[in-house]
Parts: sequence; structure tokens; C-alpha cells
Amino acid sequence: MGKYDYTKINLIAHQFLLNNCSPQYPINIYSEISKLENIQLITYEEWDRFMGQKIGRLASTYSPDAFTYNHPQIGFILAYNNKTNPYHRQRIQRIRFSLAHELGHILLGHFNNQDNSFIESSSPNNHYIEREADLFAAETLAPRSLINPYRSQTEIAKHFDISTASARISLYYKRNYSSDFFNEDKSLFNHFQYIERKFFLHNSPRNLLKNNDFDPSLTYDFLGVIFHFCKSCHHIDIVENRNYKFCTLCGSSNLLLVSKDNYFEFHETEEQTAFIDLEENEDMHYTKLKLDANGRLEEKCPRCENEDLRESYCNICGASIINKCSGNHIGSLWRPACTGHLLGADRFCPQCGATSTFLEDGLLKEYATTRNN
Ligand SMILES: [Zn+2]
Ligand SMILES: [Zn+2]
Ligand SMILES: [Zn+2]
Ligand SMILES: [Zn+2]
Repeated sequence: MGKYDYTKINLIAHQFLLNNCSPQYPINIYSEISKLENIQLITYEEWDRFMGQKIGRLASTYSPDAFTYNHPQIGFILAYNNKTNPYHRQRIQRIRFSLAHELGHILLGHFNNQDNSFIESSSPNNHYIEREADLFAAETLAPRSLINPYRSQTEIAKHFDISTASARISLYYKRNYSSDFFNEDKSLFNHFQYIERKFFLHNSPRNLLKNNDFDPSLTYDFLGVIFHFCKSCHHIDIVENRNYKFCTLCGSSNLLLVSKDNYFEFHETEEQTAFIDLEENEDMHYTKLKLDANGRLEEKCPRCENEDLRESYCNICGASIINKCSGNHIGSLWRPACTGHLLGADRFCPQCGATSTFLEDGLLKEYATTRNN
């Protein structure tokens, strides 16, 4: 097994998982590190703005991915490049690994014997600690006790949200080294069993973006798509040059604009939370009416089944057959309606938060009532 102390590395990784982390996989390494008081997580841009001047060195000159600076007053500053390899398919997984690697340097005590406050990954003297930090990262993101050795690299990578390269290494260690290192110590074995049970109970793959309108491959390949994420109902709406201040599904103004600049942080925090809630409520179901190029209902009137639709209102039941802002703000004063057409799923106007005419006329049901049917 070489000169690395696998047992020590595994133990420290598992202590971190047990003491600090929510028992969910894939682990949200960014959120978990953010909870640690002695570590400040900052982006490369923040480093260059706040520390680069004082230290006299720009972040990208340390490492393309991440580095840690042991600041005498502040403690550990973990800087990571959230813009690394913008077009790499496994960009997010690479950032996750870099964060876990840096955490490894800190928790494995690599700074204890360092005169320098930095660990230079390029220095050949540091090969040993770099390897240790890599093993820590692999074990933290994909604990060997949770890996099914009969699954493929791709499945392991997807399940733990790691790169396929990292999954290959994890599988190698799982197949070659997992059993013998437990046998020596029964209490260690029990400890690992405990962690294994705890994590297995809650272990579920993350797949938030099953939402019909949203391409699931965006979780891996995020090429500049911008969307609004509603923190209230977890609806995702891709921005189409709309003045978007309110969620079109629930009317909430509690929105997060997600772009490639903050997608990594979104992936590691809100996206995971949203997914857990979605699991409890089953899938996100809501009706969406088909509109033609003029924004008019394409098929029949959902209220009276009239198929002969012209102009702006149904000539049988009077429902608005073009979805517009109604100006009606639930629980507050009526204000003049905004101009312009809304989309076929919009219950609320994205500009002012008033109800849509489709919702007012009962053509669309409220999101809350459609959620569980
Ligand atoms: Zn390193
Ligand atoms: Zn919403
Ligand atoms: Zn009608
Ligand atoms: Zn409006």
C-alpha cells in the first residue's frame, strides 16, 4: 500500500463527514467547508481584489484551480477558481475536487510543519502531501464504503458528482484495498460501519433538473445559460430577455439569478436543497398551455372546450385566450396592468407580480393546488 497512511487519511476524512456534514450524497463540499469557522472560502476574483495587493501575488499564479493561505490573523483562506475551464464538461466536478483537496491539506495538518504559509503544488518536495490531499478528497467526495465496486466509472461519477477520472481512482482503491485495512482494528471497523449506515439511509442521487423545460445536461455542461431560480417554489425559468422580478409560477420576488459566474455556488447550495424538497413533494408538476405565434391559445378553450378561438377572448365563455398581466396583486391594491404577452405556464407577471389573466380566468390552476395532483 505504499508509504501513505491510508488509515489515517480515511479516518480524518470520515471524522469530517461524521462531525460536519449533512448525511446526503453527493456531499455539498462548498456548503460544508463554508460552515467551518477557521476557513474563509473566497473566489480568485475576491483574492485578487482583497489579498492580491497586500500579498503581492495574483491567485492564478499559485494554481489554476485552488490554493490555501494560512493567514496569521484570519486563519485559513481557501481561494478557488470558480471560472476554471469554462468549457470543460466536468468543470464543476473539478472545482469540487479542488476544494476537498485543499480541505485535506488543512485537516491532515500539512500546515503544521510548514514554514511557508502556502503549499506549492508544483514543488517536487510536496509530492507526498499532494498525494495525501488527493486521497483525502477522493474519500470525502466518494467514501469507499459507499461505493459499489460492480458499478461503472460513469455511474460512480454521476452518483457522487465527481469527475470520471476521480471515479476511476476511487473504484481502483475500492477494488484493491478496501477489505484488508479494516481487519486490523475492530473498533475502526465499527466506526466505518456506523458512518456507512448513516449515509446510506439518506443516500440519493441528485437530479434536480428533471423539470420538463430544463435540459438536465446543464448540470454538467454549463455554457453561459442564465436562469432565474425561485427560492420559494424552486421553479427554474430561463431568461428570455424578460424583465423578470417575480416568479411566474408562484409570484414570489425571492429570486436568484444564476449565471455561469455563480453556477458552482448554486450547484453546491440551493440546487441540492431544492432537490430534497422536490423528492418529498414528488416531481414538480404544473400545467402549461400551448400558445401560437401570436400568444393565443393554440388548442381549445380549457374552460368551455370551444375550438373556434379568435381575437382576445373566448366568444363562448369570455375567458381571456391571450395570457396577460391582470394588474391584480393578491392581498394588495390593484395597479395598472403591464403590457405585453405572458407565456403559457405563467400564473404571475414576471415584471410586477400581478396574477395572469389565465390564472384569473381559471385556465391555469394555482401552483400550490397543482403540486400534489
Ligand atoms: Zn495541494
Ligand atoms: Zn416561485
Ligand atoms: Zn371558453
Ligand atoms: Zn404585470
